[in-house]
Amino acid sequence: MQASCEVLASVFLAIRPLVRPGVTTGELDAEIEKLIRDAGCVPSFKGYHGFPASACISVNEEVVHGIPGPRELKDGDIVGIDIGLIKDGWHADSAETIAVGTPSAEAEKLLTVTRECLELGINAIAPGRRLSVIGTAIEAHARQAGFSVVESLVGHGIGRDLHEDPQVPNFRCFTMPDPVMVEGLVIAIEPMINAGTKRVVTARDEWTVVTADRRLSAHFEHTVAVTADGPRILTRRGAGVAAF
Ligand code: MG
Ligand code: MG
Repeated sequence: MQASCEVLASVFLAIRPLVRPGVTTGELDAEIEKLIRDAGCVPSFKGYHGFPASACISVNEEVVHGIPGPRELKDGDIVGIDIGLIKDGWHADSAETIAVGTPSAEAEKLLTVTRECLELGINAIAPGRRLSVIGTAIEAHARQAGFSVVESLVGHGIGRDLHEDPQVPNFRCFTMPDPVMVEGLVIAIEPMINAGTKRVVTARDEWTVVTADRRLSAHFEHTVAVTADGPRILTRRGAGVAAF
């Protein structure tokens, strides 16, 4: 899984400089698919339950599962890019939200806080702890910033399949199983943080999830292994603390 996740990290590093005003989400998706296939990997989202593209690209009030197409990005947009791939049968899954040009103060704060939420959720991981420490850490940080956590979509185990048990909520959840984390467990942690209401709706395309109040949403995701030494971020974007 480290090998598949390293390919995915390299795809993100190659895509970041292309995210600028005037590029279409469809052009980004085409480049992402080419990078994945050139690395000998398979884009896991393409065809998943009929999803038509290799990346989910979600702009501004779109939370996740946006379908790439002719939409041109413009200065001030925030664009969430979520990519999955398979290498030698092992899945990798990661997402980040990128500002196009100069973001508003609110957008910039939302990106910073959502990234911090992911980092805090990951840092809560240790073998022997319950899974719920992740969502508790994420929700506390989002709320103190005045933002809300999407509850209807959650993170997940990952390995031979894209979505495996356990589900990994990004909030204090009292209805899902709360297993103890063990060494070797690999999970995708993916907080979706909204500037306004936590409520979301599905758009007419039956894929794109949108905030109910149409305010901004951000999404960051890493595939993370639970090790004896604590969390290991398999989709880390290179070496060093700045590569988160
Ligand atoms: Mg993902
Ligand atoms: Mg995921």
